[in-house]
Amino acid sequence: MKKHILIVPGDGIGQEVTTVGKQVLDRIAEKFGHEFTYDEALIGHVAIEATGDPLPEETLTKMRASDAILFGAVGHPKYDNDPSAKVRPEQGLLKMRKELGLYANLRPIKLFDELLEASSIKPEILRGADILFFRELTGDVYFGKRERIDDGNTAYDTMIYSKYEVERIARKAFDAAMTRGKKLMSVDKANVLESSRLWREVVQAVAKEYPEVEVSHQFVDSAAMLLIKNPRNFDVVVTGNLFGDILTDEASQIAGSMGMLASASIGDSTGVYEPIHGSAHDITGKGVANPLASVLSAALLLDISFGLKEESEAIIAAVDAVLKAGFRTRDIANSETPADKILGTDAMGAELLKRL
Ligand code: NAD
Repeated sequence: MKKHILIVPGDGIGQEVTTVGKQVLDRIAEKFGHEFTYDEALIGHVAIEATGDPLPEETLTKMRASDAILFGAVGHPKYDNDPSAKVRPEQGLLKMRKELGLYANLRPIKLFDELLEASSIKPEILRGADILFFRELTGDVYFGKRERIDDGNTAYDTMIYSKYEVERIARKAFDAAMTRGKKLMSVDKANVLESSRLWREVVQAVAKEYPEVEVSHQFVDSAAMLLIKNPRNFDVVVTGNLFGDILTDEASQIAGSMGMLASASIGDSTGVYEPIHGSAHDITGKGVANPLASVLSAALLLDISFGLKEESEAIIAAVDAVLKAGFRTRDIANSETPADKILGTDAMGAELLKRL
């Protein structure tokens, strides 16, 4: 198979982890006889520094011309500490999602047995948990009208959803549920919010097309509680942008570390595959970032955008093998991990490539 992949490392540890992600894609191409070509483009703080724009037109053109995008992260402390900055790295991310029509963010929460102890939740509660989140990505308070009024002393944001936005992500989530455990939980706050009442109505209507799927509706507060209480009861979850943002970070603790979780953003055109973690400036340049989320993002890319299931599973098996061999990056190590098994980013990449 011939494919063109755009690497968009972004800021902070984005560069370090996507380097390993790309090495893994290269090894897969070699092993399975595919031809992957690559290009690279700027986004976020590095793009602002180079061009003044967090998503330069050149990047967008390259994104549209590629078959899939392996993404790092955006963000820089300079902006985190200056809420008044008008041009910000995350504007690049939001604009990319809008421009590419990436309305569904998929986050698989799958626990590697070797990491059961790395989670702050008891292993007997966690074992076997396997959840697939569908977070809506182009609506909600992130894109609704917002304003400062009353001389800047009052502010509001608008939570807004249209029927078609809920319908299209609900369908994607139901389709996925049909290939998994046939259970779907829709999360909203319909006891308080009008946009959530619309959300629930639409999900109920779409559910009629999928009589085999067992559907439940949970308020977000209760869903947050159940996720920790009994994660094994979850199969597919579909929710809006804000609730999904919060719940998926909570769920990341089920997997033990942010450094282990990948996500896919899909929609009308090119799919974007990225770790759920940010640019982690506290560890940037130290060579200690866990590259496995980027590696697992590459696995998702092969599966979802190219339909290469066997190749994708080969990557997941290699991650499993590396963990079984006892290797850890610092974020997933514990007090019992021998010092010689704690690896930096590149060494972890090298162990992984050996097993591919
Ligand atoms: P973060 O995910 O960057 O880091 C949170 C903590 O987890 C840090 O202590 C970090 O060292 C650790 N961590 C994250 N990824 C790791 C990895 N691969 N290996 C080892 N440790 C890892 O979140 P934050 O500190 O809240 O945000 C930092 C910046 O990233 C901010 O500017 C924020 O806006 C941005 N951000 C971007 C994205 C994105 O690009 N999708 C997502 C979240 C945050």
